[in-house]
Amino acid sequence: MPFSTFGLSPSLVIQLINNNYEHPYPIQKEAIPAILEGKDVLGIAETGSGKTASYVLPILTNLQGQTRTKNRHVNVLVLVPTRELAGQVKEVFQQFGSTLPDRVKTIAVFGGVSINTQMQAMQNVNVLVATPGRLLELVESNAVHLTSISTLILDEADKMLNLGFKSEMDKIFDLLPKKRQNLLFSATLSEDVNNINQVLLDNPTIIKIAFEENNIELINQTAYYIDEDKKGPLLRYLIKHNNMQQVLVFTSSTYKADNVADKLRKNGIDASAIHSKKSQSARTDALRNFKNGSVRVLVATDLLARGIDIEFLPVVINYELPRSPKDYIHRIGRTGRADTPGDAITIVAPKDEHHFKIIQKKMKKWVDRVACDNLNLKDY
Ligand code: AMP
Repeated sequence: MPFSTFGLSPSLVIQLINNNYEHPYPIQKEAIPAILEGKDVLGIAETGSGKTASYVLPILTNLQGQTRTKNRHVNVLVLVPTRELAGQVKEVFQQFGSTLPDRVKTIAVFGGVSINTQMQAMQNVNVLVATPGRLLELVESNAVHLTSISTLILDEADKMLNLGFKSEMDKIFDLLPKKRQNLLFSATLSEDVNNINQVLLDNPTIIKIAFEENNIELINQTAYYIDEDKKGPLLRYLIKHNNMQQVLVFTSSTYKADNVADKLRKNGIDASAIHSKKSQSARTDALRNFKNGSVRVLVATDLLARGIDIEFLPVVINYELPRSPKDYIHRIGRTGRADTPGDAITIVAPKDEHHFKIIQKKMKKWVDRVACDNLNLKDY
């Protein structure tokens, strides 16, 4: 089924071809027609399934002919849990919205940066992508009104609830007009997400895309069992010896992320760290430089394990294990996205062996063990 059969705006179909979207992913096959019809949707899907385009494309199509807004009113509101996801969703709207006959203006607002610039940008906005706290601040200062919203999207609703945005989300729901289209995307259907679903959605089209089916088989997983003090040399060996050019490395603390990135740089490997203790501009720069290939290694905490889409990321390395098996799956899911296979390498110190067993059991997949005895790590 090609994209041209959905009734999307013709200029979007051209854009899709230009962006090498050859055929719709499973979530898009189901979500696009439902959203075009104006129905509510509950999508249980991860980043990597193509969920962003599954709502961006029909929303842009539906907006054609109705892009005018009253002063400081917006048509579409996308609520997201993190600044990074806000930026990413905005980019997809802008990427596809740029060639439409009726111009669609999309902006992203989030905390951690000056509110003044965001207040000034709030003219003639059609699509507002926002984190809940900053959105409420903008509403309270009368910079934006939510009473003209025709479509509400909650992206990564589970993460929003985990991060404690529930009361802010409830406040926002109260400010919206009663009659509107609601789209809710979440990686899991937890009890909390289900409660919101019950309140928000009216006879929704339910779409479930299992992460495991979609992605895990695409990921080539291996594990290196090695003493704690050899982990650093092994990491550098793997990167240099295999000539890896774009590697996402996960650590479990902000301190360790900085430390690993420092050591890589000292050994001649270009690396940056990204985590919650970095300023917003440092996070944005690090991610941009990594995405465009000007930084070879990005060392991240679990802040990046969810939500961030890096196209064609070939390798993810777990320098330290995450606490929860779910986070392990999210981390390795940064590679092997959609149609592209990738490598996920886990470095396991003796103290982590038991925990890694639990992770594998939960994942229902045993990871191939690579022998480290014969590796010559002396020069790394
Ligand atoms: P998402 O789950 O929205 O983060 O999308 C994951 C990745 O898949 C992004 O890099 C998209 O550009 C890409 N993508 C989404 N849909 C398609 C498609 N139908 N064909 C090719 N790439 C796609």
